[in-house]
Amino acid sequence: MFLADYHMHSFPFSPDARDTMLDMARAACNRGMTHICITNHLENCSQTPACPQQFPPMREYEGLLASFNHAKNLMGGSIDMRLGAEVGGPNFSPAEGREIYENPIFDFIIGSIHNLRNSDDFYYMDYHSLNNFNQLIEEYLTEYVDMAKSKLCDVLGHVGYMHKYMARQGVFFDMMDFSDLLTEVFRACVDNGVGIEVNTSSLRDKYGHFVPDRGALELYRDLGGEIITVGSDSHTSTNAGSGVAEAFQLLRELGFKYVALFKAHVPEFIKI
Ligand SMILES: [Zn+2]
Ligand SMILES: [Zn+2]
Repeated sequence: MFLADYHMHSFPFSPDARDTMLDMARAACNRGMTHICITNHLENCSQTPACPQQFPPMREYEGLLASFNHAKNLMGGSIDMRLGAEVGGPNFSPAEGREIYENPIFDFIIGSIHNLRNSDDFYYMDYHSLNNFNQLIEEYLTEYVDMAKSKLCDVLGHVGYMHKYMARQGVFFDMMDFSDLLTEVFRACVDNGVGIEVNTSSLRDKYGHFVPDRGALELYRDLGGEIITVGSDSHTSTNAGSGVAEAFQLLRELGFKYVALFKAHVPEFIKI
């Protein structure tokens, strides 16, 4: 049985997480995960004066690595553990994005857009008072095209992140209404050897679907996309591994044959 959760946060390295790496690893193992990657927030690149609520940048990694090695040693061989990071907008500050990507402590980098340049995190937006929703999504997807071309990440994180926060406000939209731009995003992935993740966190939220959803995953497949990871995006041990088995099942249904693991940014394709 192969189940890999390649997106999870831990305390204290992700300020919005509650449990330690060891707690996360134990919980993931208990949920049947065979492989995990710890991916704490690194918002070093996306930080701007307009986003004071963003997480403080992290540039000293000794504590992170020590905590990872401690958890890994205690877990023994019961689960395959890798250290990665979820980097916010690495293409916003390419020099720093490159420095993070090339730091040998990280096997895997998720590139995520949590905010547009000089804007708030999508988490904080009031979706009822937006006057140009289309422009927002177009700018958002254009950042992902740019990020895939920059090759400063291994997979694009949660393409469609705002679905979760919009649904909480009772606002819904279909990403396929932006299929031209989404095609550009996935084509940039395929052309540059960058993958995407299936993020399961919205499955346990009001939105109730994977991000990206089935339609977008079909588009990725049709464009020749093969590099894919699955991540619970859990911030607590209760959610470690949550939705991963369901995502693997959907990927099988859609005809994907493999889920990728990463070592030194090189994908290893494991049959599902
Ligand atoms: Zn994220
Ligand atoms: Zn995350």
